[in-house]
Amino acid sequence: MDVSLSGIRGIGPARLKAFHEAGIDSVRDLVMFLPKDYRDLSAFTPLSEIKPGETVSVKVRVAGEPSQRRARKLVITKVYVTDDTQTLPVVWYNQPWLKEQLTRGREMMLCGRCEARGGTIQISSPTIEQEEGLLPVYRSIPGVPAKAMRGCVEAALKICEGQWPDELPEDLRRRHGLCERNFAMRNAHFPASREALETARRRIAFEELLLYQVAISLRRGRGEPGVRMEFADDAPEKFWAGMPFSPTGAQRRVLQEVARDLRGGEAMARMVQGDVGSGKTAVAFGAIYLAHASGYQAALMAPTEVLARQHYAGAKALLEPLGMRVGLLTGSLTPKQHRLAHEAIASGEWDVVIGTHALITEGVEYHRLGLAVTDEQHRFGVSQRTRLGQKGDAPNVLVMSATPIPRTLSLILYGDLDISIIDELPPGRKGVRTRIVPEDKRRDMYGFLRSEVKKGRQIYVVCPLVEESEAVDALPAEQVYENLRNRDLSDLRIELVHGRMKAADKDAVLEKFHRGEADVLVSTTVIEVGVNVPNASVMVIENAERFGLAQLHQLRGRVGRGTDEAWCFLMAEPNERLRFLASTTDGFKIAQRDMELRGPGDLFGTRQSGNIVCGVGTLAGDAQLLKTVHDEARSLLAHPESDEAQSVIRLAEAAYLKKFREAAVN
Ligand code: ADP
Ligand code: MG
Repeated sequence: MDVSLSGIRGIGPARLKAFHEAGIDSVRDLVMFLPKDYRDLSAFTPLSEIKPGETVSVKVRVAGEPSQRRARKLVITKVYVTDDTQTLPVVWYNQPWLKEQLTRGREMMLCGRCEARGGTIQISSPTIEQEEGLLPVYRSIPGVPAKAMRGCVEAALKICEGQWPDELPEDLRRRHGLCERNFAMRNAHFPASREALETARRRIAFEELLLYQVAISLRRGRGEPGVRMEFADDAPEKFWAGMPFSPTGAQRRVLQEVARDLRGGEAMARMVQGDVGSGKTAVAFGAIYLAHASGYQAALMAPTEVLARQHYAGAKALLEPLGMRVGLLTGSLTPKQHRLAHEAIASGEWDVVIGTHALITEGVEYHRLGLAVTDEQHRFGVSQRTRLGQKGDAPNVLVMSATPIPRTLSLILYGDLDISIIDELPPGRKGVRTRIVPEDKRRDMYGFLRSEVKKGRQIYVVCPLVEESEAVDALPAEQVYENLRNRDLSDLRIELVHGRMKAADKDAVLEKFHRGEADVLVSTTVIEVGVNVPNASVMVIENAERFGLAQLHQLRGRVGRGTDEAWCFLMAEPNERLRFLASTTDGFKIAQRDMELRGPGDLFGTRQSGNIVCGVGTLAGDAQLLKTVHDEARSLLAHPESDEAQSVIRLAEAAYLKKFREAAVN
């Protein structure tokens, strides 16, 4: 199984390299590369019933002659197809050879995304499928076309079959009705039926979750001694008294939980979850204050430069008056500033240092680090949080996350952390009013945006990222930017920021918006991370149907931070999912719904999930399964000496512990 891929027919040096770059080096890796989705070619949608935004499977025949034209760097092939309920156009980009194949009357099955274009619906870049049944869809690997990918996986499965023993103890499998591994792998890739697929996924998810849970529980090593902090009983209240606002009940409660941990003598490992704007930063500052009151240094790590600077400004405003010396360490300092910062950290001249991952690079020596805080934790992943934790003498760790996660899932993903929840917003927030805006209401909305800008407000326009596989001649964000600037809102000051820009340019644009020198900021999801512009009160989200609910919820949290009435416009055809989002502001409810609808993987966005279990995304929000796994892990670890527990622990170590350790040293 650990044999090289080069033995597989169809994998030459170029593909070998392509696979290698995607992290696939062996037959085993390839078999473990599970589909991100399936196409159902056993049930077809009639053309008359398809809606924009959906990905559909249709069975059609070619109804006319294909046409081909060029637009900039694109060759666009277009043909009409019909299934007798309706006739619709289909479009492919940069696949000129298709023209030959699209002969009138040819019957075919297509899978692709439907889009509204010029008053009609078109199917864009569908795949042409030959086999009926459930077909796997893989995350695209540049240089390996979808069809070739399926062939390679098929060959890899053949090599493994019968040779890859099932390592999960048989009793455990029987207890939970889990199928055998070979069956699971085959049916996860090429399901014999829906039922077989469910059985396979359940087995794979169960194993992965169980091993992760066991690994993370072992890693936590409960009861590790930490620095025991000593401060007066009324220290938390003293801190709140020094704030310009009174805390919400939830903030007060959570800081008390933190205070209890800090004085407990065991190293604190706690996550604070709360919606965007719930005031997590203030709680973190409170924890930092308590560390300082006990004579310890603290560090706060943010995922981006912009966010670090924002926290730095906040800390200067709120913590300096309480007698703390605050410093900043980020990647963009000059060499001299860098050296001075390192000195101030090592000498203890700074009581608290705020920064980016520069805080955990080699060469940073802390004076007396007693508390490590990381913000927006899911951007970092387990390894970085561990590294900041290791910088001091087993300091206390506090992580803040704006992603509300259903409790059942938290128990597993963050099995090594205690969790506090801030479930209350500061008073006076009007909340974000969310509206779904179909295409024919776009004009009206622009009128509204103009009137908001006249009132002095600022506006975010957020666009989805594009998949590498999609052919577009410009990023959607660039297109939207051009349209607004040249046409729809040409009278306003508009700026663009996206992920392909250099960090410095990105920061410059964000700064400009922050200073109020732009009315509208068009962006990809880069603004998702904690940017705080209180004057921005409207957010427009293009192609809202492409985002997960939890992500939409996080995005809209960027507006409505002041007390002005805030608006979020979801550009999409109304559907039940979006209506649900518009109807509630409860982040936990939304997370739960998102998990049920799209599976928990989407809560993180697969690309960012880092070393969070990737396969979690393979099961559809099955709270019962999560609980079963959690209970099983517990009962196994209650008797770690049993044969069964020993086998599972060995598997867990092989799967994760090494990864954790490597990540922590690198
Ligand atoms: P989060 O990090 O949870 O998204 P922040 O800590 O950035 O939220 O807080 C958002 C805004 O609310 C900040 O401007 C902060 O000063 C303010 N704030 C925090 N707590 C309170 C409170 N109890 N009352 C009023 N304003 C608050
Ligand atoms: Mg925050």
